[in-house]
Amino acid sequence: MNLYEQLPYWLIRDGIVSSYPSLHADVKADVAIIGAGVSAALTAWHLRASGRSIVVLDRRHVGMGSTAASTAFLQYEIDTPLTKLSKMVGEKNAVDSYRLCRQAIYDIEDICKKFKPAFEFSIVPSLQHASYRTHVGQLREEYALRKKHSFNVEWLESDDLAQKFRLDAPAGILSADGGQLDAYLFTHALFRDFLKHGHVVYNNTAINHIRHNKDGIRLVSSNGAEVQAKKIVIACGYESLKYLPIKIAEVQTTYALVSEALPNEYFWHGNSLIWETASPYTYFRVVSENRILIGGRDDPYHRPHISPSTIDKKSKMLVNAFHKRMPHIPLKPDFSWAGAFAVTSDGLPYIGGIKQIPNTYFALGFGGNGITFSVIAAQILKDMILGKSNIHAHLFDFSR
Ligand SMILES: Cc1cc2nc3c(=O)[nH]c(=O)nc-3n(C[C@H](O)[C@H](O)[C@H](O)COP(=O)(O)OP(=O)(O)OC[C@H]3O[C@@H](n4cnc5c(N)ncnc54)[C@H](O)[C@@H]3O)c2cc1C
Repeated sequence: MNLYEQLPYWLIRDGIVSSYPSLHADVKADVAIIGAGVSAALTAWHLRASGRSIVVLDRRHVGMGSTAASTAFLQYEIDTPLTKLSKMVGEKNAVDSYRLCRQAIYDIEDICKKFKPAFEFSIVPSLQHASYRTHVGQLREEYALRKKHSFNVEWLESDDLAQKFRLDAPAGILSADGGQLDAYLFTHALFRDFLKHGHVVYNNTAINHIRHNKDGIRLVSSNGAEVQAKKIVIACGYESLKYLPIKIAEVQTTYALVSEALPNEYFWHGNSLIWETASPYTYFRVVSENRILIGGRDDPYHRPHISPSTIDKKSKMLVNAFHKRMPHIPLKPDFSWAGAFAVTSDGLPYIGGIKQIPNTYFALGFGGNGITFSVIAAQILKDMILGKSNIHAHLFDFSR
């Protein structure tokens, strides 16, 4: 699968951070993790001191899957509003899911504090504004439900948005709990720490066959070398779908750009993440070097190939959408890219095992909040692999 087209900003800026060998001889491990993106990195890192030997294998390079293309908004607000999710999965499960995502942002902060530098991690507020006047009622209901469950949110009228953000929109919810990150560097840092515990990472090693045998699972790699493991984790991002006997997600296409650098005078309240109620939504945030990132204009299908002219057209649409809200900012696109992106029907990830496939665990953080879902997946899978129960596992179970 073509995970993205044209180089994402972080790949250009950060380049090759660390290199890993490919697999050329048979190896044995307690746990084999297929994939080396942020989901695999967090899972491997959580298991690093568990006493289990772990091997990680990726067909590409560490972090160079969807992780490098991620715009890395860290939000507890998943793509399905709390009001709607409550109707789908019950209010308690919906609130628990939102709370876990909020906690995941602070868990990332704790991990980043252990590493230096902090990979552009920062806690920033998150503003969701109504796209149209007709959306204000539903946004107020969302605000009321979040307030009822003690989320730290503030209601902003149109005048407040103009004053604090110079943003032209009818109303909004300002949440104190949001974050941002360089997900690519973060992934590399997790693997560096993981390696210190004697584990191994292989790149340029595609797993072509997964065979169950009496000792566990045998993975056959593209190089012919094999891995014998007791348990495996499938953290192959959107390419994981082929390993599932059931359809759980739709793959779509999303677009992003990073602008040229701008003077300080153009930035807004707390450098908040800004997004909206329309679906699909346009979102923007401040990134390093005083640049602005804009994302959205999704297509509801996966494009196997996206032409430069399509990306250019989508960039213009993103800039227009931005200027509709922030007409005073003279933003010019500098880097643009497109990426595959999977969505589930309730907006929640799928984490855990499936009855038909023994000793196999999936870390599928699909949806707009993929990175916070990766944190939750790592925590749940760690417990499952170590044979412990996890009180949150049922929220993201395949049988929900
Ligand atoms: C443009 C864009 C914007 C996004 N914005 C956000 C955002 O703002 N906030 C957010 O939280 N999330 C966002 N996401 C989603 C987020 O990036 C993903 O959820 C996350 O990066 C997925 O990480 P992963 O490790 O699961 O997958 P990946 O990073 O894709 O890693 C999976 C790895 O598995 C490897 N692999 C696949 N098959 C095999 C095989 N057979 N053998 C060996 N290796 C294999 C791949 O090479 C790949 O490196 C965005 C995604 C895109 C594309």
